[in-house]
Amino acid sequence: MEHSLIQQHYDLGGRPTLDVWLRFAPPIQARYDQEEGAQRIVDLQFAIFVGLAFYNVYNITNYILLGDTFWTSVLLRVGFITPTSLALIWLIGRTPLVWTERLITVGMLNAHLLPVFLFWETRSALGVFTFGELSLTIIFGNMMLALRFPHAVLFTSLALASTLLAIVTKNNLETPVGIAFVIQIATASAFGLYANYLLERRRCGDYLTALEATLLAESADAARKQYEDLSRTDALTRLPNRRHLSEQVETWLSDSRSIGLMMIDVDHFKFYNDSLGHPAGDACLQKVSAALANATDGLDDAFCARFGGEEFSFVLRNASEISAASAAEAILQAVADLQISHPSRPDRLDVVTVSIGIVVNCSDGPDVSFDHLVEFADRALYVAKRHGRNTFSMDSASGEAMRFCV
Ligand code: GH3
Ligand code: MG
Ligand code: MG
Repeated sequence: MEHSLIQQHYDLGGRPTLDVWLRFAPPIQARYDQEEGAQRIVDLQFAIFVGLAFYNVYNITNYILLGDTFWTSVLLRVGFITPTSLALIWLIGRTPLVWTERLITVGMLNAHLLPVFLFWETRSALGVFTFGELSLTIIFGNMMLALRFPHAVLFTSLALASTLLAIVTKNNLETPVGIAFVIQIATASAFGLYANYLLERRRCGDYLTALEATLLAESADAARKQYEDLSRTDALTRLPNRRHLSEQVETWLSDSRSIGLMMIDVDHFKFYNDSLGHPAGDACLQKVSAALANATDGLDDAFCARFGGEEFSFVLRNASEISAASAAEAILQAVADLQISHPSRPDRLDVVTVSIGIVVNCSDGPDVSFDHLVEFADRALYVAKRHGRNTFSMDSASGEAMRFCV
């Protein structure tokens, strides 16, 4: 299956996401371990616990079939395999996953070698019938524990080899019986391993498909967020645009009505454009907006935006008339300090300046909307223009008392 998004995301350089041994590429394995590791531990602990219970039930079959090595069986099952398996259950939640897989592979080999030894050792007449247990440990390791495929190959090969060795070297085992056992254990190994391969391939494939879908959803989410950011940002100045401004002001108005809003308009900008050209006008707007952005830098209670054209807005939360007036003065100064030459000004000031209309809606003021505030600030701006520009004027939100400051 194609997993191009995973390839891209992890920059695998064309290497497969899953190799022939059903191993994920390292960064995918790391993500898998992080997401699925805890569940894997729980599954393993449960499987080992169940396996151990059945394993001890085989003391009964050994009692019936072995006779001579029965006590050896009890000793090894109860005295060795059981405590080491319980230790394994405790340990695997506490070691890195890669060690967990190695430890349970070793544990499984021990669990297989014990009945191999008992089968090999016994002289009892019924002893050969314990052979059936050897297939079960192979099936258990491959399917219940679902050892990772490379570990399953290792375990199954060693289990098969040790069993074949026991068959070949066992005393008094008739050759035809030995041949039948070889066929049986080889079949159990092949079936167990093949089942393990199918299980593992399904598990890995399902994970990769789910991961591809997750990455697709994540990239769609990132694209949507980027689009949303763009739709709230002015392309020329990179300041928030009018839409973002209105959202911000409405949010602030909803938790406190004490808002100061300024409309800031570049003075005689038409003359600037006409004499120096539109590109120079654009550059001028960028410089002015950088100065405004600078004034809000690091302030949680201040926000500036390009309202449109050569008009900007500056908003202060928890503002008083005094704090708004001093912020306006600072802005007038910051723009004048840019010293952007404006040779065609009719008032011969020669540098770019702005005029500011302010409205402050105090916390005990009336309920107002963003549009109301803009309307009042615009009215104050008109006054500032009339009073010669490069100055500010203040309106009260109620609209009753218009005050001219400076
Ligand atoms: P006042 O001092 O009364 O505000 O005069 P003004 O010339 O600044 O005002 P007016 O509304 O007559 O002109 C605004 C000019 O701003 C006209 C328009 O071409 C220019 N303008 C608006 N947006 C842009 C822009 O994005 N880039 C450039 N270069 N010019 C712009
Ligand atoms: Mg204007
Ligand atoms: Mg203007």
